[in-house]
Amino acid sequence: MTGDDLFLGSEAGATAYREAMQLATDAVVNDFADAENPYSGRSPEALAEDFDEPVIPETGTGLEAAIDEAATRVLAHSVGTSNPQCAAHLQCPPMIPGLAAEAMLTAANQSLDSFDQAPAATVLEEEVVDALCDLFDLPAASDGVFTSGGTQSNFQALLLARDRYCRRRFGRDVQSGGLPPAAESLRLLCSEDAHFTGEQAAHHLGLGEDAVVTVPTDEDRRMDTDALDAILADLETGDANPFALVGTAGTTDFGSIDPLDELADRAAEYDLWYHVDAAYGGALALTGYDDVLGGIERADSVGVDFHKLFYQPISCGAFLLGDGDDFEWMARNAAYLNPADHDETGVPNLVAKSVQTTRRFDALKPYVAFRAIGREGMAALVEETLDLARDAASLIEGATDFELLHEPTLNAIVFRYRPREAMDERAVSRLNADVRERLLRDGRAVVARTDVAGVTSLKFTLLNPTATLDDVASMLDVVRDCGAAVAREQEVVT
Ligand SMILES: *Cc1c(COP(=O)(O)O)cnc(C)c1O
Repeated sequence: MTGDDLFLGSEAGATAYREAMQLATDAVVNDFADAENPYSGRSPEALAEDFDEPVIPETGTGLEAAIDEAATRVLAHSVGTSNPQCAAHLQCPPMIPGLAAEAMLTAANQSLDSFDQAPAATVLEEEVVDALCDLFDLPAASDGVFTSGGTQSNFQALLLARDRYCRRRFGRDVQSGGLPPAAESLRLLCSEDAHFTGEQAAHHLGLGEDAVVTVPTDEDRRMDTDALDAILADLETGDANPFALVGTAGTTDFGSIDPLDELADRAAEYDLWYHVDAAYGGALALTGYDDVLGGIERADSVGVDFHKLFYQPISCGAFLLGDGDDFEWMARNAAYLNPADHDETGVPNLVAKSVQTTRRFDALKPYVAFRAIGREGMAALVEETLDLARDAASLIEGATDFELLHEPTLNAIVFRYRPREAMDERAVSRLNADVRERLLRDGRAVVARTDVAGVTSLKFTLLNPTATLDDVASMLDVVRDCGAAVAREQEVVT
């Protein structure tokens, strides 16, 4: 390769691009998508041994060889996200329309930080954001921006919440003056099952993780509103300044959805910024089950991930505001990207809405996906997995050697392998931890672990709409196999 065949823009470049994409496509199909097991079972040490040549050689080996190496060393030992027996995390099988869009958007390499780097892409992102605001029934003044995912959306929500509060409560402009002396008194509330990125954001925002007050959940893992009321009343009488309430629509482990409408009432009553973390459960808005999201339309902000239950390749998320004017808390003008006179002449200016500067054109993925299969097509996929999760929960509940820990709300199911009723919690915890280790080396089923009340448990996240109850049954059989092997090992040791 010399130059002409390294870049698009010439005939040689076009030919090289087609050939490269064909090679990459063949590698994906042959070395990744066709694999029988969802993981090869390679250990980190064995994987490292494959990379025995310099990553930066003096002279290159050519693209065909480089792609071939990537295929055999990386793709072949990747988790098979599209394999029906890969059911650990909120890591979806990416849908083909999204993969096609990903290829287009990376080739076009538009950057959403200024109109002149992404003209049609800027306008399209705004259109997709408007459609999303409609999907969640947000008010006419709503607005939003694409993000790298839930982490960034939650961070941005709490940043705007903090700065609006500091202006109104302390007359402090945090953007220029930094945190006010009273910052130590700021508190944000979320449920004990909320995502850890709330605490992470509190740290990054200079408030500290101790600023997060976690509200207990009820038996369905939803925020307990009586407990919330007690905590709010308590905070009101003390020196604390609660400024934000985070509701979760789809907790990561259990898929539970907080009573969003009741939380909206509390946020209104106490004048809190109301953020809904719908990274996981936002997709329900597409389906006939959207009533459980009732109240989300009253949120100050909503975070939703497309790289989870909307089946788009990583990364792809959106941050939506009920009132687009709240972007003012992070507005800035850089002369080279969005000079102030652009704001007046109506040149779209997305850089001031994002915590990123250079930014991917991820909005193309849901756009192509929605245009290709429509809301109905997307809804059918999601509903398929919700039905499967219900059937899978019944299967686990009916098995004598498994313990179901909850009825699924979405498609996550937490359970334990418990071959003997009489086992105590410590033994169950150790067994499930070892089983999960063994599963990782086995590779026939990719299953997650989590802790529930200090006891190690297993988790399926059944995101794959092509997975069947037979797939779930086979995964349970693999767990049994690994369980038996672990039990034999533990007996030898004891
Ligand atoms: C996944 C998830 C996040 C984090 O989002 P990323 O896209 O991984 O940054 C936050 N909250 C919830 C509820 C999630 O499921």
